[in-house]
Amino acid sequence: AARAQRAWISLNAAERGRRLWALGALVRREAEALARLECANTGKPIRDCRAEVSRVVEMAEYWAGWCDKIEGRTIPVPSGHLVYVRREPHGVVLAITPWNAPLFTCGWNVLPALAAGNAVVLKPSEHTPLTSLAFGRLALEAGLPEGLVQVVAGLGATTGQALLAAPEVAMATFVGGPATGARVAAACAARTIPCVLELGGKSANIVFDDADLPVAVQGAQQAIFAGSGQSCVAGSRLLVQRRLHDRFVALLAEASARIRLGDPLDPATEAGPVCTARQFEHVGALVEAGRAEGARVLAAPREGLPAGGFWVPPTILAGLSNGARAAQEEIFGPVVAAIPFDDEAEAITLANATGFGLAGAVWTRDVGRAHRVAAAVRAGTFWVNGYRTIHVSAPFGGFGASGHGRSSGREALDAYTAAKAVWVDTAENPALGFGHRPDIG
Ligand code: NAD
Repeated sequence: AARAQRAWISLNAAERGRRLWALGALVRREAEALARLECANTGKPIRDCRAEVSRVVEMAEYWAGWCDKIEGRTIPVPSGHLVYVRREPHGVVLAITPWNAPLFTCGWNVLPALAAGNAVVLKPSEHTPLTSLAFGRLALEAGLPEGLVQVVAGLGATTGQALLAAPEVAMATFVGGPATGARVAAACAARTIPCVLELGGKSANIVFDDADLPVAVQGAQQAIFAGSGQSCVAGSRLLVQRRLHDRFVALLAEASARIRLGDPLDPATEAGPVCTARQFEHVGALVEAGRAEGARVLAAPREGLPAGGFWVPPTILAGLSNGARAAQEEIFGPVVAAIPFDDEAEAITLANATGFGLAGAVWTRDVGRAHRVAAAVRAGTFWVNGYRTIHVSAPFGGFGASGHGRSSGREALDAYTAAKAVWVDTAENPALGFGHRPDIG
């Protein structure tokens, strides 16, 4: 990887861009095969897999465009030196990704690192490595230097930790759960290398009683039940103004019962099973915890589901307090905690009463309130009258236990490069010798 990175950076920037663009074109050419592979490996509905593959093409095109636009700047220092800043790639970046959106997170993390001039070693989740391995082959076919993108499949505690300890790895980017994120950060700290962490969330979806009701119900449904809730930005805490709360919960339960669960390969399927046995048990345990803490459990009927499989119907835990375990821990399944609030101040307090800070949303027709709430909620991404839209061109990342650093948009280039200040003495008669230049620190 280190050798390939030197070959990569010795190409001119426009050529690097052309090759990333070519990689995007190959992902487009293989889109259907990649989508089917992703579907088989994750159990995600094929229509979601198709959409995610097309987003990876978009990412490749976006980052291809950045390759020849990574510019420095000059700084008017008082000593009269010419000081210019170069953005240097770190060298070899290690990317560790989760199982819930394998190819999407592969593109999301690998492509900006390459655009910034790095090589990438990718360790996908042991549960879902297949599309990442396919992506590695396409990178070769696109003309990226051999070894520039390496996909190492294996377990996190062994393969992941071994890669973190490799002296060539100069930066890490991690997408996954908070406990693993802390281990990755500790391994990076031990080697004093930087890392970007994209961890979980317990995002607040706030509905005021002046919201456009049918649109907000549909939005709340999308926010938590899309991808069977296996989404880091899932709107897993539904805060509803008290006057509207019971009606809203009833409408959401009714709408959720109509979500088509079934064979992920069927194009009509809207939600699949959860991905792994461990995840299935975790979701079940938290629903039971919610019940034990007094939640009214509203679950869609299970009839008609294929036999076997880790099926969890869309589930609402109504009447929980925000401090309950099921309202605080990431469930990462199709389960939402519905919590009433009285006024704007309480909505903000509840939204921020979590260690996480990944995303959130507000539904209201009051434009002033929308902006006030957007400013007050501690989250890396916030939506007004919408949910779930993210794009490679906008910064993405978390506050607090949701991680740090930004992995998309131009902000990602700061993470994937380090600034180097070059000082050029332009004085006609530079004073020589130690201590002669009081202006130099
Ligand atoms: P996980 O933390 O169990 O695993 C993520 C990756 O880390 C896997 O590749 C795994 O093999 C590796 N890993 C595990 N132990 C490791 C160790 N000790 N050292 C190094 N690597 C190790 O997460 P998961 O269960 O695969 O994914 C679900 C989590 O990912 C959820 O918490 C979800 O919110 C989060 N997620 C976050 C984002 C985001 O952008 N913020 C996006 C998707 C998923």
